Order: sequence, then structure tokens, then C-alpha cells
Amino acid sequence: MKPRVGVLALQGGFAAHAAILESCGARVDEIRTAEQLALVDALVMPGGESTTMSMLLERSGLLAPLAERLDAQMAVLGTCAGMILLAREVVDGRADQHSLGLVDLTVRRNAYGTQLESFEADIAVEGFETPFHAVFIRAPAVERVGAGVEVLARHGDRPVLCRSGSATVAAFHPELSGDERLHARFLADLS
Ligand code: GLN
Repeated sequence: MKPRVGVLALQGGFAAHAAILESCGARVDEIRTAEQLALVDALVMPGGESTTMSMLLERSGLLAPLAERLDAQMAVLGTCAGMILLAREVVDGRADQHSLGLVDLTVRRNAYGTQLESFEADIAVEGFETPFHAVFIRAPAVERVGAGVEVLARHGDRPVLCRSGSATVAAFHPELSGDERLHARFLADLS
């Protein structure tokens, strides 16, 4: 049976994730309510603006049910703003920004500075035979990696792809480079 994957669709780049997941063979639901969240086996939290997404999570009543599902080991892929929301500690966040705290990382928002706010780079990803073309858009930088967090890729010496339990987080946008490998692996790990 096709895995049923939700894409958090409150704000940001959810459409490209949905398209790539569908092309990898998943059944995809856009998630805007707790009722919708309850129906999916796994979730993608896209890039966008973590402060806005945090506020919308609260307003939509999704924050508590999402925390519960994550606590119960639902598989989740968080990219960019999604990574920020899943990190244990956020530097340069807004004081009222929520952290789901699932992945023991410290991330700094918008850490690459104005000049390099957006850039692309080929990175080596553990388990992939050829480099992955990574698109970074006002990306967060990982400043601390906790015990139990596995680093799957780095850019320079900064971790940019990490896994911890049922969560995978990327500082870049894997949905934007026409490379399905990360999404395919996320789906393969569900079965
Ligand atoms: N800078 C954004 C934030 O703080 C993240 C950027 C992105 O998701 N592309 O949420």
C-alpha cells in the first residue's frame, strides 16, 4: 500500500514537496488541521518562515497534536524552516517562536548572512553515490549537534543534513533541485 504522507501546508514551500512525494509514489495530503494530521503516517515540514509557521501552528490548533505525534515517533522530514521548528534550540529566533525540540541541535536562523543569503552547492550525502545539489535559501546553520544526532551531510564543516530517531532535517531545500533521492529514502524508511 502507498504510504500516506502529510505536507504541512500552512505557509511556505509545501507544493514542491507534495509534487516530488507524489512522483515518488506516495499518497500526499496537505495538512492544515489536527483532523488531517491524524490521518497520515508521516509528515514533511517545508521551508518558509519559521516564525510565521510557528504562529500558524498555534492558531490552527496543530501545535499540540503535532508535538504528540512527534513524541509517538511519527517519521518527519523538516527542511529549512521545518528544521528550525524541529530543533531543540534556536538562536536568533523570535522570543515567542515555538520549538518542537525533537532534534537535539542548536540552529542559528539566517546564519549565512546577507551576501550569501541564498546559494547552491553540491554536497556529499551519506549513502548516495553521487553528490546532491543543495539549494540553500536564508538557511539556518547548525551550531551544535547533540548526542544521538547523526550527521548525514556537511557543507564545509557545517552539518546540513541530520537524522535523529524518526526525524530527518535539512538546512537546504531538497525539493528544489529535481533530485528525488532524499524524498525516496524518506519514503523507503517508512516501510
Ligand atoms: N530564514 C527562514 C526562517 O527563519 C528559513 C528559510 C527557509 O525556510 N528557506 O524560518
